[in-house]
Amino acid sequence: MGDIVRIGVLHGDGIGPEIVPAAVEVAAKALQRNDIGVEWIELPFGAAAIDSHGTAAPSETLAALDELDLWVLGPHDSASYPTEFRGQLTPGAVIRKRYNLFANLRPAKALDAARAMAPGIDLLIARENSEGLYADRNMAVGSGEFMPTPDVALAVGVITRAASERIAREAFTWARRRRGKVTIVHKANVLTMTTGLFRDACLDVARDFPDVEVSQEHVDAMAAHLVRRAADFDVVVTENLFGDILSDLAAELAGSLGTAASINCSATKAMAQAAHGAAPDIAGQGSANPIAMISSTAMLLAWQGQRSGDERLAAAAASIDSALARAITAGVATRDLGGTASTATFAQAVLDGL
Ligand code: ATP
Repeated sequence: MGDIVRIGVLHGDGIGPEIVPAAVEVAAKALQRNDIGVEWIELPFGAAAIDSHGTAAPSETLAALDELDLWVLGPHDSASYPTEFRGQLTPGAVIRKRYNLFANLRPAKALDAARAMAPGIDLLIARENSEGLYADRNMAVGSGEFMPTPDVALAVGVITRAASERIAREAFTWARRRRGKVTIVHKANVLTMTTGLFRDACLDVARDFPDVEVSQEHVDAMAAHLVRRAADFDVVVTENLFGDILSDLAAELAGSLGTAASINCSATKAMAQAAHGAAPDIAGQGSANPIAMISSTAMLLAWQGQRSGDERLAAAAASIDSALARAITAGVATRDLGGTASTATFAQAVLDGL
């Protein structure tokens, strides 16, 4: 047996306790088959942690994450928390902020070309994750959204050169590992200072990557291009809000939100987190689609393989992707994809394919 990787496991709310264990089981088998030992460290998080520890992101969880580079985070349903918790940062945001997970990497690739609206789609959205127009990300103290009167609401957006360059560097580095193209998405014709700064910072970084082809689009035009010719794009780098919206669009073009994977990372830590939410409407029924969570966990292993140079981790990640593709091609599908398979049946099909 080779090295041991240590991975935190935070089940979260809604369908989290159904899809996270499925992802862990699949990753455990893939790691074992590639001769990599793994220690899974379960940590309290979300509504269950409010019950047991009085807070959704307990200090013991954060202390444990301080010592870890990798973890799998289930979705949280903060809207359902008791009133006193709702005005606070969501537990996901607490974690993202604490570890400065500035890059949200969201691939969109058709898993089932026959059913995808954009069968040729194979792109990676590099979404800036630490600032922009999101109220939880742009103030040291207080909220970036406020109401001077009950009938007037204001939101502050923050774009900095440093954060824009940081995500651009990530995007260009990924482009080199992929098809060598980056599209910068902004709205610099209207939001000239903020998204103009974002665009300029990305173009500055582009000079260090002369081998990567660069293009730029306004976000509204980009939405149209994605619908019409998604297959033309490789890596898309954009600010936070645009990235959030475009990645849901790309996910649906590729299949469904239930299949959309993502990781949030810094240079030293990465967190697997499905792009979808806690889906409280179907929680506890055993019908949730675990693809996004399984695929996010595979991304986590690939990220660590890339960082450590350990090819066995890359192989484990690739084997999960292949097993997912095999299960889908064999017609095993959960309800959201028009099938009848339960979460457990689908996960078993992936395990069998490994
Ligand atoms: P959030 O704001 O936390 O991202 P949301 O309100 O956008 O959450 P989701 O929780 O993602 O919404 O759910 C949107 C819809 O998609 C719901 O009908 C839900 O059942 C469905 N859905 C989301 N994830 C899955 C999944 N993994 N499997 C099946 N259906 C899902």
